[in-house]
Amino acid sequence: MSETFKNYINGEWVASQSGSLIESINPANKQVMGSVQASTKEEAIQALQAAEQAKNEWKKIGQFQRGQYLYKVAANLEANLQDIAQSLTDEMGKTLPEAIGETQRGIAILKYYAAEGSRSDGDVIPASDKDALMFTKRAPLGVVGVITPWNFPVAIPIWKIAPALVYGNTIVFKPASEAVVTAAKVAKCFSDSGIPKGVFNFVTGSGSVVGNEIVNSTYLNAITFTGSSHTGKMIAEAAAKNQIKYQLEMGGKNPVIVLDDANLDNSVEAVLSGAFKSTGQKCTASSRVIVQAGIYEEFKAKLVEETKKITVGDGSDSQTWMGPCASEGQYNTVLEYIEIAKNEGATLLQGGNSLQSEQLPGFYVEPTIFDEVDSSMRIAQEEVFGPVIALIKVDTVQQAIEVANDVEFGLSASIFTKNIGVALTFIEDMEAGLVRVNAESAGVEFQAPFGGMKGSSSGSREQGEAAKEFYTSVKTIFIKSE
Ligand code: NDP
Repeated sequence: MSETFKNYINGEWVASQSGSLIESINPANKQVMGSVQASTKEEAIQALQAAEQAKNEWKKIGQFQRGQYLYKVAANLEANLQDIAQSLTDEMGKTLPEAIGETQRGIAILKYYAAEGSRSDGDVIPASDKDALMFTKRAPLGVVGVITPWNFPVAIPIWKIAPALVYGNTIVFKPASEAVVTAAKVAKCFSDSGIPKGVFNFVTGSGSVVGNEIVNSTYLNAITFTGSSHTGKMIAEAAAKNQIKYQLEMGGKNPVIVLDDANLDNSVEAVLSGAFKSTGQKCTASSRVIVQAGIYEEFKAKLVEETKKITVGDGSDSQTWMGPCASEGQYNTVLEYIEIAKNEGATLLQGGNSLQSEQLPGFYVEPTIFDEVDSSMRIAQEEVFGPVIALIKVDTVQQAIEVANDVEFGLSASIFTKNIGVALTFIEDMEAGLVRVNAESAGVEFQAPFGGMKGSSSGSREQGEAAKEFYTSVKTIFIKSE
């Protein structure tokens, strides 16, 4: 039965005064799987005011105690793992094993930042005056707006909210409308932790109403966002106007370079996983595969052979390897890009069709491969966010790196080679925030910095210790005995 979720503002679950709901649709079968509040901008303001009022008390509670709350949130998520993972599959379409993996990652991130509560929050630095003590201390920023996408509705909110809270900020969280029921269940793990009222606030509603109100609010001291480049740029402008810190993680057009000396089986497996897992809807997904001429035909044949074996279906079915696109909008976008690529002269090698049928009534598209793609084509330049690979042939390593860098994005990039010298050149010359050797482009480790270069990111990094840089301000303290 489909459930309805409320907003969580100032320590209470409350219905929106709008009286309207947003329905969330299961992309595997187009059934309603739950509803949330279509909130008004006044409710966004109430949440921001609650966060503002709570910020001084939360700061004074101390880092250690704040970490203890995150351990409780982690325990709540662990207790609800199966339900939340199932909700994630039903709402966003990724397979159940992927959804369980994402939820487990959420638990690990919470525990990591809970432990931050008992780690150092500054450094002692030798002063030029031998009688002085000089040290740094971290101060929270205040109220942080958290705006998240639908592709990782468990992990992304948690990797933003957990560090924001442990370092002493209060937050207002607006999740993507496409995956909002799962986000509401994650929000309940926070509310059930006993966290003081006003510290964690959750408001659902459209980006143009609730999101826009949060982004432009003068209550905000910082904003963190993951989503499209278009929305990200608007957020950067609003943040610059209000002179607040901002963190943006946006698109990718991630290359995988396969050189003549690459291990064929490993590179094919990594490309399949990087391009088609989560139906290609990861910002780190492999979308351009740049292959050296000597291995091109063999690689291509093996890639097509393996792609033909992929079972597409409902993510809840244990036989399914790849689920549907997350929404009708994404499904239409993917099919449009397939047409654009054909019209631009790329050769359709594999897939390219909708798989909608009586048995598969949802937003299913075949895993698709284009051959003879030129780097200037839109299929090689723009983020598709779907199961589509563009194969590009090159002669030399230098050419491969030039093509890999020939996009506005710079999130993740990988290379397959046995040559350590070539790998080091790639590491040096690749304009990307995540550079991977003999590994798929779509791997993220929560304990390491995550973020992109060029148009992929505002430049700051998320996760690991890097999160502290964004969510705090450094105070340098100098004490001298009289
Ligand atoms: P959006 O950028 O529109 O959505 C991301 C988040 O921003 C959602 O919470 C959304 O709310 C919110 N939002 C939308 N408009 C505003 C606004 N004016 N002010 C404040 N917040 C706003 O991305 P889409 O979901 O439309 O996806 C479009 C494309 O973006 C995808 O095809 C993909 O290419 C890319 N994308 C990249 C992601 C990544 O991980 N880097 C993740 C998701 C998308 P609401 O959902 O209510 O509109």
